[in-house]
Amino acid sequence: LVDLQNLKKEFDGTPVLRGISLSIKRREFVTLLGPSGCGKTTTLRIIGGFEQPDSGDVFFDGKRLNDVPPYQREINTVFQRYALFPHLNVAENIAFGLHIKKLDRADIKRKTTKMLELVGLRGFENRDVTSLSGGQQQRVAIARALVCEPRVLLLDEPLGALDLKLRKDMQIELKRIQQRTGITFIYVTHDQEEALTMSDRVVVMNHGVIQQVGSPTDIYNEPVNAFVADFIGESN
Ligand code: ATP
Repeated sequence: LVDLQNLKKEFDGTPVLRGISLSIKRREFVTLLGPSGCGKTTTLRIIGGFEQPDSGDVFFDGKRLNDVPPYQREINTVFQRYALFPHLNVAENIAFGLHIKKLDRADIKRKTTKMLELVGLRGFENRDVTSLSGGQQQRVAIARALVCEPRVLLLDEPLGALDLKLRKDMQIELKRIQQRTGITFIYVTHDQEEALTMSDRVVVMNHGVIQQVGSPTDIYNEPVNAFVADFIGESN
């Protein structure tokens, strides 16, 4: 569904991506994993259209995306900081994108209710988002990103700001949401355990280079080099 072909990117003369090529299938949960600064976020931002590669291409369903602006891609993003609208309640936050699309009231209500259900926030629709816990706010952010029915959801360390217990609960929740919706998830984390427990495939990156792509079992049992072995081993 998403094909990255030899993406290269420099910032101030420093190479950040040195030729990233990757094919992501429909309905896959793929995680980009690697140490801070390895280029995970930059890769995600290029897929979302928030950043242009210096060279290389992004294809979506066989169509070259490089010149397509973010809002015209069938791709949505959830960031670590939730960026909810503080002056809108839960339902209004979720419905925001639907109003922009000028859907009628009944449709908006139906889709919003479905999303509240999906993320386990039925009954919270009139709550002020600032009164919610971090985990609940993140659920609103996920619902808001999914309500427009993107084909791909990009998630950049979405659980990074949560405490450990909540993080574990949300990992299970996110996996469940991905399986229920069948939306392709491209997930970024530097947490080895998170990547191994949630993903269909893990992409291990270092210094702007993909070191290994494989199932969690492959990555864990058969690391291809010392970097992958050390990095995965750090979680134990
Ligand atoms: P982290 O987990 O810390 O977010 P990452 O793997 O996602 O790391 P990137 O955010 O892609 O890494 O950043 C890779 C490198 O590119 C970093 O050294 C970062 O400082 C640099 N970088 C990213 N964006 C910019 C920018 N807009 N201008 C200059 N340098 C940038």
